[in-house]
Amino acid sequence: MAGLYLHIPFCARRCVYCDFYFVTTAKSHTPLVEAMRREIEHRASEYGGFEPVETIYFGGGTPSRLTLDEVDRLLQACHEGFDTRNLEEVTLELNPDDAGVTYLRGLRDLGIDRLSIGVQSFYADDLAFMNRSHGEVQARGVVDAAREAGFTNLSVDLIFGIPNQPAEYWAANLERAVRAGVPHLSTYSLTVEERTVLHNQVERGLVVPASDDELAERYRFTMDYLRGHGYEHYEISSFALPGARSVHNSRYWSHRNYLGFGPSAHSFWWRGLPARRWANVRNLASYVSLVDQRQEPVDFRETLSLDTLADEYVMLALRTDDGVDLDLLEDRYGTDLLEDRVDALARLEGAGMIRPVRNRRVRLTDLGKTLCDAVTTELLPSSES
Ligand code: SF4
Repeated sequence: MAGLYLHIPFCARRCVYCDFYFVTTAKSHTPLVEAMRREIEHRASEYGGFEPVETIYFGGGTPSRLTLDEVDRLLQACHEGFDTRNLEEVTLELNPDDAGVTYLRGLRDLGIDRLSIGVQSFYADDLAFMNRSHGEVQARGVVDAAREAGFTNLSVDLIFGIPNQPAEYWAANLERAVRAGVPHLSTYSLTVEERTVLHNQVERGLVVPASDDELAERYRFTMDYLRGHGYEHYEISSFALPGARSVHNSRYWSHRNYLGFGPSAHSFWWRGLPARRWANVRNLASYVSLVDQRQEPVDFRETLSLDTLADEYVMLALRTDDGVDLDLLEDRYGTDLLEDRVDALARLEGAGMIRPVRNRRVRLTDLGKTLCDAVTTELLPSSES
């Protein structure tokens, strides 16, 4: 079973922290939509016969900048090229300023059954700092609008660690989402990525990022609060009420195949070794031009050996509540972590970062989750002891 990812790079504004590929100046969406339809058709002729598609995900950028007709044209291309008879989930990322009920109802009629909503904060100060295109009123109204349009499968993104954000704001953000009964929450710390406005502000001394201690404290609060309200902490950044986990993202974390379309989209395909990964060009005009010339709009390709895949599996699985399945790691990737990393496992357990190995699973403790990258580095099968 495979997933399809459609990258829609249009945004109303430049959020200060964002390092995704997006443009704010497109006059028309048509060249991109038509190019993506051709790319979907081309990839379907290569891969469509291998396995059915179970999830489609419109990400960005801001997919909700598309008209209903444009969403429909892209979905039709997916349905025509791939076996979508067993689709489980069709998600579209939505910004609160695009959440008119008529538009949302139209999305549902087209078959979108899950919304991932980029709220980020319910507070005007935070939204202004981040240069989000929506305001407090839109942030506070979007869940009701989605429900009114018939959506029950909703996710809300929230960001913590905004400089000078009072702890009470973060607690109130979580409380508001929980009170609204949002079944899925993705919470991220504000990170300072290179080539972003925020990075520039930090470099010039205009903004002082939150400290690591503050971020860790907010994260611990988030885990406690959301678990206390019935949410399953099923991935480092993801919390879901029972039955509301993201099918599409869960597939990423378990090394399932996915095909990405549009500028900057990534793909992964593993049917026999080596596995392959590729990424499309990060430029709208180049992407459209290459597709028009019937060339692949790809500027990065790599093949992945079993050792690299084993590293990736450990990295991805550690992020989840399932943890690293030692039997699967041995059977599928040929790696015996208990033998190869025995010292690291003992050290991390002694430091309280992983739980004692039970049922042949390695799982992070809460402390380990706050230090996930460091723990992962120690456990990668390829790392030195
Ligand atoms: S809306 Fe999303 S993709 Fe667009 S600039 Fe903001 S964070 Fe980036």
